[in-house]
Amino acid sequence: MSKKILVVEDEQSIATLLKYNLEQSGYSVITAHDGEEGRDMAVDQRPDLMILDLMLPKMDGIEVCKELRQQKVNLPILMLTAKDDEFDKVLGLELGADDYMTKPFSPREVVARVKAILRRSLSNQEASEAAEEETEYKEVGELKVYPEQYEAYFQGQLLELTPKEFELLLYLTNNKGRVLTRDQLLSAVWNYDFAGDTRIVDVHISHVREKIESNTKKPVYIKTIRGLGYKLEEPKVR
Ligand code: CA
Repeated sequence: MSKKILVVEDEQSIATLLKYNLEQSGYSVITAHDGEEGRDMAVDQRPDLMILDLMLPKMDGIEVCKELRQQKVNLPILMLTAKDDEFDKVLGLELGADDYMTKPFSPREVVARVKAILRRSLSNQEASEAAEEETEYKEVGELKVYPEQYEAYFQGQLLELTPKEFELLLYLTNNKGRVLTRDQLLSAVWNYDFAGDTRIVDVHISHVREKIESNTKKPVYIKTIRGLGYKLEEPKVR
């Protein structure tokens, strides 16, 4: 779906120019011609970004910004100012504009700025979503491990694991894609800080495999790395 841009600009020629150029770049564009209309459209139509002229009839850009932020409408705002506007840029940014441009500008400049702002707000959103997942669970293929709850699911089914099996699986999951030696696993999961009997690792690995591998002879999750140890990896899609 294309991103929706709201252009609030009372000068018809500028509004038309911006609409044309943004549409050429694949955005869908709605326009408003005074401050009140702009504020209402921002609330009702939820655009992804607003280009907001500072000097507008009925309600100026600063007021629109302020009201939207008070109503917790958090869309990115690119403010347009004329060269001779007595506009305090710091004030504009403090009131909630994300960026501003001074007229006259080239439409190409505006499109580049719009792209940059949208990219920025998208990556913020993705970063916070990723952080949320981090605390919730680790996912490898059809395996989900919940560190806090001490639970693991495979294909949506709760796995019956002993505490050590769970800790082993969690450690492997946290180190997904990395080869772990038997000694490493022994010290991480069993807290043996000396070279203990590594067969205990092999036994637990085989127990975990029985619960998550459809064919334990040909495991797709927990791979044996000959002469080294084990590695948990994303199963290859066939
Ligand atoms: Ca104006």
